[in-house]
Amino acid sequence: MLDSLVKFVRDQYRTNEFIPLHAPVFGGNEKRYVLETVESTFVSSVGAFVDRFERDMEAYTGSPRAVATVNGTAALHVALMLAGVKPGELVVTQPLTFVATCNAIAYCGAEPIFIDVDKHTLGLSPVALDHWLHMHAYLDNDGVCKLMGGDRVLRACLPMHTFGHPADLNGLVEVCGRWGLALVEDAAESLGSLYKGRHTGTLGCVGTLSFNGNKTITTGGGGMVLTNEALGARAKHITTTAKKPHAYEYVHDEVGYNYRLPNINAALGCAQLEQLDSFIAAKRILAGRYQTFFEGSQFQFVVEPAGCRSNYWLNAVVCEDLVQRDELLAFSNQAGVMTRPIWKLMSHLPTYSSSLKGDLTNALWLEERVVNLPSSVVPELQV
Ligand SMILES: *Cc1c(COP(=O)(O)O)cnc(C)c1O
Repeated sequence: MLDSLVKFVRDQYRTNEFIPLHAPVFGGNEKRYVLETVESTFVSSVGAFVDRFERDMEAYTGSPRAVATVNGTAALHVALMLAGVKPGELVVTQPLTFVATCNAIAYCGAEPIFIDVDKHTLGLSPVALDHWLHMHAYLDNDGVCKLMGGDRVLRACLPMHTFGHPADLNGLVEVCGRWGLALVEDAAESLGSLYKGRHTGTLGCVGTLSFNGNKTITTGGGGMVLTNEALGARAKHITTTAKKPHAYEYVHDEVGYNYRLPNINAALGCAQLEQLDSFIAAKRILAGRYQTFFEGSQFQFVVEPAGCRSNYWLNAVVCEDLVQRDELLAFSNQAGVMTRPIWKLMSHLPTYSSSLKGDLTNALWLEERVVNLPSSVVPELQV
């Protein structure tokens, strides 16, 4: 089985070289646009490609406003600030995520609460969230959600669309609405994924994207905040040093951040975004082939949740147990086909091990079994 898996992956990418988990593909206007920024000297914090990248992303996702940032982690930090998260407050998130999700909470001086994921979406479970809140939280007279036995505020809920598969957003919107929590989506992995026809990252009050080198499209490094007009204006302000518009004077009216995406990176982003739909088409064909390959095996291929269209950023299988997982990892990596286990749960990292948490049965089960497979766009499959 493992032998034939390695052969299967090599057949897809038609190479005997090392096959990484996710490498970028530059098949469009990348060189042309980047060269334009060099020739114009506008490579840095000012330039037309930043605006264009933001407007193009608004058109693509349907978000009223998109604000580019220097990376996805910065976008998350800004998103939580927009949601009103303040020092000492609490933010509900999932333990099964990349560490940036939790770090952004810490940058706000807030603390995570870890709630279990659903096995079929790999995303935050609205049922587990509602259950935990009933046991541990209350709404005060102003409708603010607080921790029982005190008055610590639970401000926001930060689900993550794991490997591109949308979490149960209708459920999360409903539970968050009832408990007065601001819904912020970490859509770093799910650009182009649809939940009942709508783009992930646009169903809460704020959503964030990442354009790191290993994501579905890349700007080298970069990120985006998706939100409404009012919060978008505020996002632009605090990510550009909180400078008041003026022809030459330096007036800054609060603590601002230098979280701008350089124009040279935005140029790359514009070229990549032009190809996003064809990248997703190729990724979905590859995912379909993996699914067929694993049918009837001991490995369960992770498929998009019902009612969703996933970008299949990273393909994944669920192994029967830890022993089988370790065999898969050792065999494939030895053979030059990169595979990786899912992240260690955030609640197992020293930094976040003392944070509040609910029952994490599903996350613990998945932590021992999920393995990611090579998922780069196969250029021949682009349509
Ligand atoms: C990639 C990623 C981020 C953001 O990463 P950057 O490298 O800062 O762009 C955030 N959350 C998740 C879940 C990610 O996968």
